[in-house]
Amino acid sequence: MRPENTVAELAGVPVHYDRYRSDAHGYGTRGRPVTLHCTAAFEEKLQACFEELWDVCPLGRAEVVTTAGAYVDKPGAHSKGRAFDLDGLFWSERAFVARNYPREREFYLAVEAVLRKHFGTVLNYRYNAAHRDHFHIDDLAQRGFYKSHRSRVLFLQMILTHLFETPVAVDGIFGPETSEAAREMLVRRELASPGALAGGEALDRTLGEVWFDLLGEVARAGFADATAASPPASGPDETPLALLNQVYAAIDEERVGGWEKTGREA
Ligand SMILES: [Zn+2]
Repeated sequence: MRPENTVAELAGVPVHYDRYRSDAHGYGTRGRPVTLHCTAAFEEKLQACFEELWDVCPLGRAEVVTTAGAYVDKPGAHSKGRAFDLDGLFWSERAFVARNYPREREFYLAVEAVLRKHFGTVLNYRYNAAHRDHFHIDDLAQRGFYKSHRSRVLFLQMILTHLFETPVAVDGIFGPETSEAAREMLVRRELASPGALAGGEALDRTLGEVWFDLLGEVARAGFADATAASPPASGPDETPLALLNQVYAAIDEERVGGWEKTGREA
């Protein structure tokens, strides 16, 4: 049943719907103002999440948040009024659109880190084809790191590969390669000592303990180079990581369509 509670602003920023058929208000535009329905408890989490986002992002408070919806009469968290689909964020000089992930991975992962601080379920670009153009967030699951949750392992693998220079296969499986890279990253970032990470259980426990600190570091690192200018579709970008990410971007764009088989919306 549709909750009575409504939301039209997130931490002071108007929410717009951008899934109209017209080019002027279609996906990737600023859309048009919308009033969403969700539970009051879920709204409280949304407000806190976006307050933190404006706080940690160097661009500050956005002008518009675009969405594909909150309460929707379909199975899952949306029908409970406990889910929100984030399409984009618009500042006066810069637009962030979820579908552009291959071209702005750092910024994307920084946004996701803030979402993960507040919501247990976050489904992203790599989760499946249906989530390439938006973040799905809901609060049906607990926050934190669980290696049995594919969406959380994907995020870990994405930050290892694209933000912390310890590349692994981004396949959602917490295997030996991901474990080794996670250990290296935790030690290098001084989130754990090598002695505290001996054995699989110790790694799981440590990831659980430092998860929120790690999310904070992801947001800082991902937003570090955020400036008002939107990144070019392609262009001069000399750092080795940036060059590597351009290669990944090309691979991702080729792979599109291969993911429909996997996963489903929580
Ligand atoms: Zn959704």
